[in-house]
Amino acid sequence: MHDIYDILIVGAGPAGCAAAYDLARAGKRVLLLDKRTFPRPKPCACGLTRKTLKALRYSVDPIIERVCHEIVLQQSASVTAEPHARRPRRTEVRVKTRKPICAMAVRERFDDFCLKQTLASGRLGGSVEFRKIESILALRELPAGRELPEGREVPEGRAVRDSIELDILTAEGPQTLRVPVLIGADGSNGQTRRLAARLYNHGTQLSPSAQVLGARPGFSIRSPSAQDQDDGFALEATVPYAELPATLPAGAAPHDLVFDFAPLHGGYGWLFPKGDHINIGVGAFAPADGASGVALKSVTRALLLGYAKHKLGVATLAHITGQYLGMGGHAYVPRGRVLLVGDAAGLVEPLTGEGIHSAIVSGQAAAAAILSCADGEPAETLAAAYARELRPLQETLAFSQRAARAFYAKPERGFKAMRFPFMRSLILKTYADGLPRTRLITALAKLTT
Ligand SMILES: Cc1cc2nc3c(=O)[nH]c(=O)nc-3n(C[C@H](O)[C@H](O)[C@H](O)COP(=O)(O)OP(=O)(O)OC[C@H]3O[C@@H](n4cnc5c(N)ncnc54)[C@H](O)[C@@H]3O)c2cc1C
Repeated sequence: MHDIYDILIVGAGPAGCAAAYDLARAGKRVLLLDKRTFPRPKPCACGLTRKTLKALRYSVDPIIERVCHEIVLQQSASVTAEPHARRPRRTEVRVKTRKPICAMAVRERFDDFCLKQTLASGRLGGSVEFRKIESILALRELPAGRELPEGREVPEGRAVRDSIELDILTAEGPQTLRVPVLIGADGSNGQTRRLAARLYNHGTQLSPSAQVLGARPGFSIRSPSAQDQDDGFALEATVPYAELPATLPAGAAPHDLVFDFAPLHGGYGWLFPKGDHINIGVGAFAPADGASGVALKSVTRALLLGYAKHKLGVATLAHITGQYLGMGGHAYVPRGRVLLVGDAAGLVEPLTGEGIHSAIVSGQAAAAAILSCADGEPAETLAAAYARELRPLQETLAFSQRAARAFYAKPERGFKAMRFPFMRSLILKTYADGLPRTRLITALAKLTT
């Protein structure tokens, strides 16, 4: 039994690191657990928008491989290997600015860099310790005043108070950790969301539609069975510039940052230019409305291979990887002493599939909530503080979900709207800096009429 940490964080991706960084700088002792040693691969195109770079507490310039000043939005014809796919006329909109729109990094290096910054962030007695674990075995909450299990003693100088116990498996064997707060930052496939759902939902399974609507705040943590309906899914691969033909078959330049809405319903294909290669991918992000299961199923290796052939003229892809993206989190209501952040809380942006920004902002929100509560505050106070800190992000995501529904229902209509300079600048501003709400409402009205 270890009781020397103030906060336990499961997952050392952008969300976990953002939380750990702020907590350690404020003097808290943080234990950061991950099932991987770093650097580790993670499926992600790692486009870092202006708002993401702004949200980070430190510069990531050393690992930026390219900076893009232009986005190419397309609906390119004859993209796909899927026989039933739409084959619209080719449409293209180029949106340019003087200020960079998006910085390109390789995810493995980005995460490793952020973890190093985080491990060095301690101040005022605060610290971050990283530990690799094999898995999480169990999660319990110990209410204040409850007797400790037989054989366990209250550590000297510490009062018994509400706390979380986490059983983990390490290379040395099983261990139990006890802390006042646990942050679940273990991504879309992580265990903390499932364990927290069991702890606080008393086994109740929540239908995806109820979660999306946030209809029953008492049962607000998504159930594991809802993953397929609620989450997005994306596949990616990399192609070295050296392997590309002299002229790309679909007309893109090798360094174009391309979003192409033709290959599938409810999502897009992309080309993200890096230092020595292109990251190519396909992903479905459309919000759950009964049809998203179809969109997820269309994200296949065959689709990605067809798309790579069409866009880059390459017939094979060496490493195809993919992952779910946690979505639907605009309706997440924090409960108890387990605060979910990033993909674990379903906070990926539904219009673009961008998740690093939300991961960082929610990690920082969880840290702010913890720091705003005195030691030993009841769990409800902590959860309410986190709900308050998270609200601006959730409101933005709820808007974005409406925008995604409107856009993906008929991308052609969205493209028509982009002929107007106002719409182009809004799209660009939204992607790069976040959604300016009043302008978005106007734009949504245009898009849906
Ligand atoms: C193909 C693809 C492309 C994408 N492209 C972009 C993009 O260009 N820009 C963008 O902003 N977003 C992109 N995203 C989304 C983005 O990757 C995620 O939203 C983001 O990584 C979420 O960060 P996180 O910290 O919440 O989770 P993660 O980054 O997934 O980190 C979770 C961490 O938890 C660890 N973990 C998992 N389970 C356990 C466990 N049981 N115990 C201990 N540790 C555990 C993992 O090893 C990992 O280190 C993309 C996603 C995909 C799948």
